[in-house]
Amino acid sequence: MRDDEIRESYFKYFNEEKLPFIQCKNCGHRFYYPRAFCPKCGSSDVEVRFSKGQGKIFAMTKIYRKDGSYVVYGIVELDEGFRMYSNIVEGNQADIAKRVEVIFKEINGKKYPLFKVA
Ligand SMILES: [Zn+2]
Repeated sequence: MRDDEIRESYFKYFNEEKLPFIQCKNCGHRFYYPRAFCPKCGSSDVEVRFSKGQGKIFAMTKIYRKDGSYVVYGIVELDEGFRMYSNIVEGNQADIAKRVEVIFKEINGKKYPLFKVA
């Protein structure tokens, strides 16, 4: 598969409320960002797999709006061992190492994965 094919397939899976990731069949490395080559060993023998959507907050930041409200944006480490950037809802309870689970939110007719504090 090419990069754009993998990216397109991601949106299809999001609409089915599935969280995909990629596993390298050569070295076993797991990663989220859609690409046709393993960033660790360079192999193109990669496959799309699905996460259970459970993980923990690895890093986070609060981005404040003019009205004083904020959104939490962070890096989530999934139990399968890959990391991804996402919005984290229930910002008051969000903190490093807190457990989170994936939820899917529809924006302009397409679903996207976000995380909420478990
Ligand atoms: Zn690899």
